[in-house]
Amino acid sequence: MSPTSGLGPPPDERVCSAKGCRASAVWALRWNNPRIHDEQRRKTWLACEDHREHLAAFLGARSFLREVTGLDELDGERA
Ligand SMILES: [Zn+2]
Repeated sequence: MSPTSGLGPPPDERVCSAKGCRASAVWALRWNNPRIHDEQRRKTWLACEDHREHLAAFLGARSFLREVTGLDELDGERA
């Protein structure tokens, strides 16, 4: 199957993961839901400066948040 173009942003376009936000992301929130993910697994949400706190609070309230890093740091360990 070839990827369909025109659906969703390309992977390189780093936009905030908050709903409806089109701002450039500067933070990466690494999280894990132990009920559906292996403990070692990390999901990543991207966040702009405005939404970092909002998204971190959302994940933190569910005990999913593992770490918050700058996007710069994430570049070193591409999944
Ligand atoms: Zn945002």
